[in-house]
Formats: sequence, structure tokens, C-alpha cells
Amino acid sequence: MIQPVGIPSPPSLGMRDLNRLRVIESIYLHPGCSRTEIARRTGLSRGTVSSVAEELESAELIREYEAPDEERRRHGTGRRPTLLSLAPGAAYAIGIDIGHRHVRVIVCDLAGKPVAEQWSPAHVDEAPAATLDLAYDLVQRALRDADVDPRRVLGAGIGLASPIDPDTGAIRADGILPGWQGVVPATEMQGRLGVPVQLANDADAGALGENVFGAGQGVDDMIYVRLSAGVGAGLILDGRPYRGARGIAGEIGHVCVRRDGAICRCGNRGCLETVASPVAVAREIEHVVDRPAGEQLFSLIAAGDRRALRAVADAGEAVGLALASVVNVLNPELVVVGGELAAAHEALLDPIRTAIHRHSLPGAAATARVITGSLGDRAEVLGAAALILARSPAALAERVRTPA
Ligand SMILES: [Zn+2]
Repeated sequence: MIQPVGIPSPPSLGMRDLNRLRVIESIYLHPGCSRTEIARRTGLSRGTVSSVAEELESAELIREYEAPDEERRRHGTGRRPTLLSLAPGAAYAIGIDIGHRHVRVIVCDLAGKPVAEQWSPAHVDEAPAATLDLAYDLVQRALRDADVDPRRVLGAGIGLASPIDPDTGAIRADGILPGWQGVVPATEMQGRLGVPVQLANDADAGALGENVFGAGQGVDDMIYVRLSAGVGAGLILDGRPYRGARGIAGEIGHVCVRRDGAICRCGNRGCLETVASPVAVAREIEHVVDRPAGEQLFSLIAAGDRRALRAVADAGEAVGLALASVVNVLNPELVVVGGELAAAHEALLDPIRTAIHRHSLPGAAATARVITGSLGDRAEVLGAAALILARSPAALAERVRTPA
């Protein structure tokens, strides 16, 4: 689940613990800030901020450095301020992306910089235990590669290609991940890894990844559409991930775009996923092109093959048609297109934009910029790690908590 980071309620923490948490949160949200800025943002006195910062520095949780020249103007003309950031190697977060056909693992430092990565093809749909075992093995390999002390791991985030019950964390397979009905992946993975585990739908994780690290940085209202073997969307609304009442929000892959289309894995007919997954696009041209799957589809597009371009354009039009309603209803500032099909770039984006303009209100369409993600196939795994990084201030504060 995507949980917002909150300051724990006062009875559980002393004043000094709370101040420490506020300072760490401020440094986490605004890396490279001065003590004066932290004081302004937290409402704490300059003296309290300095004292807490000194304590965090001696615990090696934050680092201090001189502002570079270009920063001096921002801080005024006086003495060169020293800036504070979290010490990147003080702790690490693991991201795990479980798609229908792959498992990807990343280890990030506190600054979100990947220090190791592992990937493996996998038959995920019918095999939860084998998939989670594989994810565990990949995590161990990544930690070894990066020489990370497992005691410094704050937790693992998982992005998984299925709706998730927000109350129980159980998979609501609904035909989308058939062998996983009722499995609680966070509990399963926590048992294997021995660290806290957070779970999100993969498109929600992708949205968070692009919002925190990628093309959607600083954007409060955005939609991330993932066009892969599964098609789905993740929503960031008013600066926060939005999952809906039962964790199903954003399932744009199962919006009907062809009333007489193919039967979908969810049991309905003509869902967007039957039209706009890379496999569905390749299928459109398989009777006129030899082996159109995977890489070849994209090389045909790059070479300007009219048949491949037409197949991608039709998929883009269907995506835009489904998105037009979403754009009207939610009025986003940005639509980020990710997943493998995003590699078709403008051949895909132009028809999406055209369909949005044709089928939504002019004001809403004009506001919604449509771009490809900047993280490529790592959006989901980085977003999964971000689930843990978002909780890092509380975890770091806990390490230096004043004994009661
Ligand atoms: Zn469907």
C-alpha cells in the first residue's frame, strides 16, 4: 500500500524525538537546504535545528557541505551557508518490480541513486511462491553486488501487476494474476527478507517513480499510463498517490474501447489492454510481417514501416480515447506514458494527443501535457523503492531516538 508519511502522534514521541523527525523530514524533502531554511520550514528555532543537526551528523545520518557559488545568490550575499543532505550511504531501500513476465530488483541509497540492479524473466501469473523466491534471490545478489550491509536496509517496496486489497494487502486477482488470489505478498516477502515490506500496484509504483525521480517531478496532478503486457494507470492527485476506495483506481487497461473487440483476461470484451499492449499491437501486423513481436516491432516503427506505424497509431488512438474521459474528470497537468510501448515515442504520443483533444473539453485537453516517462522500464522498480524512501525520515529518526 502507498502510505503517506506522517509524524507519529505526540504521546509516542518526546519533544526532542519529534523535533528530530521534523528536521530529518525537512532535509529529506529539500536536500541541500541550510539550517535557516529548515528553521523556517519546521517552525523550530535556529538553535534547536543546529543542535539536532549536530546530533544527526555525529550519528552519520546527514552530511554538511559548503554551498557552491551558484547557490550563494539564492541564500543572499552574506556568509557562504553550509547545506545539509541525508548521508546517502546511511541507509538503503530495496525496490522490487513484479510484472507478468519479469522480476526486477534495485537497491537505492537515501538519495534515490541506484547502487545495484538485477533482472530476470519469470512466469509470474501462476507461480506466486516461485516468483517471491526468485525476487528474494535477486535481492540477495543485488545487496552482495553493492556490498551493502543488510542491517542498513530500511525495507523493500514491491510493485505488482494486480489490484491489491487496501485493508488486507491481499491480491484481488480478478483474472489479472490468476494464481495469486488471496496471496499477501508483503507478508510473504517480509518473512523471506526480514525487513518491512510495502506493496503497491505496479502502475501506482510507476506513477510514484516518475513523480519522485522522473518526468513528473514537482507535478501535483498527473496520470502515469503503463503500456506493457498489462495496461494500467497510476494517479497522483493533489501531490499524493490515489488508489480509490478498494485499491482499484487507475485500472484503465480494463476500460472498454472496442464494444465488439477481443475477450480480455478480466472476462470483459474490448478492454484497452486487448488493443494497446505491445503484444496486441504486434498481433495486428503478424499476418503481414514475419515474427513482429518485441524488438522487431520497434525497429519496424523506427524504419517508418507503414503497417507498424498504423498499428501503433490505432493503439494510441484507443489509449487517447480512454484517457480523454480521465482528463475531463481529473483535469491533470501531465500524462506520462510508460511501459514497453512508450518506446514508439511520437508514433504513439501524437495519436494519443489527437484523441484526447478530440474527445475531451478544450480546457482540460490544453492543460494535460502528454509525454513519455524519463525512467523507461525502471519507473516501477524505482517507485517501489520510493515507497520505502518516503518512510525513511521516521526510520532514521528511530535510530537516534532518545531513550524514554
Ligand atoms: Zn479487461
